[in-house]
Amino acid sequence: MKHESLIVWANGKFIPEEEATVSIFDDGFTRGDAVFDAARTFNGKPFQVAEHLERFFASCEVLNLKPSLSHEGLLRVAQDLVERNRPLLGRYEDFWIDFRVTRGSRRMSYSTDPATLVICDPIPFAGRAKVYRDGITLVTPSIRRTPPWAVSPRIKSHNYLNFVLADQEVKQNNPEAWPLLLDERGNLAEGSNSNIFLVRGKELLTPREQFVLPGISRNTVMGFGEKLGLTVKEMDLDLRDLYLADEAFLTSTSLCVCGVTSVNGKKLRQGAFGPVTTKLLTAYNSLVGMDIRQQYLAHLK
Ligand code: PMP
Repeated sequence: MKHESLIVWANGKFIPEEEATVSIFDDGFTRGDAVFDAARTFNGKPFQVAEHLERFFASCEVLNLKPSLSHEGLLRVAQDLVERNRPLLGRYEDFWIDFRVTRGSRRMSYSTDPATLVICDPIPFAGRAKVYRDGITLVTPSIRRTPPWAVSPRIKSHNYLNFVLADQEVKQNNPEAWPLLLDERGNLAEGSNSNIFLVRGKELLTPREQFVLPGISRNTVMGFGEKLGLTVKEMDLDLRDLYLADEAFLTSTSLCVCGVTSVNGKKLRQGAFGPVTTKLLTAYNSLVGMDIRQQYLAHLK
């Protein structure tokens, strides 16, 4: 990343990031009353932005939040924003494209309008490159994923405290480990920003949508699984299923498909990048037109 300021889109204007502000009275800041979504680029080109915007508008609708532009309007802004920032991208770099909308504030004397933001910033590949070499070490924290009868995990809101606490707990014991949250019934839920899949023979298994964020990459990988002749199932899964799985991997927009080495210290049968994980990653590479693992490994220090 070259050291110049990023351009962001804030409330109708393209401006340098240091000029973009959100009011200290905004409920998005004071109460987490805001939603977001995050797409990314591959080779500097926006990918699946329409799918991310669809989920963004669903989150907005549930919370009665109103972005200042329509789906089409935000899509155009995202494309324009990536073009404006593209000169800042170095080799093997790509952007996240964040969409955010806040509640604003209805305080009598300090009422502020909702903020609508589109932000493009570099994906921090270096910090995560190791997982593409060694695989992911998962640990299940005591903190459970918020159930749909409290706050639906399908809403991508600004409130990530559930994950922040889970992450802190896991990292206190092992700074290299990532949390995998169980739900309150003890079933597998999701990582702090990723979905989980298990490979069992010819089956590709993942927790039911009601209890997790329905990842855009999760959906993409389910499609690959079907094309590869696997039986794809959304179902309740517990730790025993995971310990006995042939392979497991996490999916997310930035991570794509990254294999899991161990769970709570127990090594998985086929290691992190077993045959099915590798096939799914290869399918992902073809779809996005680049070698995802190589991009991460290029950032290893
Ligand atoms: N679960 C959570 C809680 C997340 O924050 C994310 C990242 N957006 C995911 C799953 C993966 O979703 P996606 O594949 O759309 O990035």
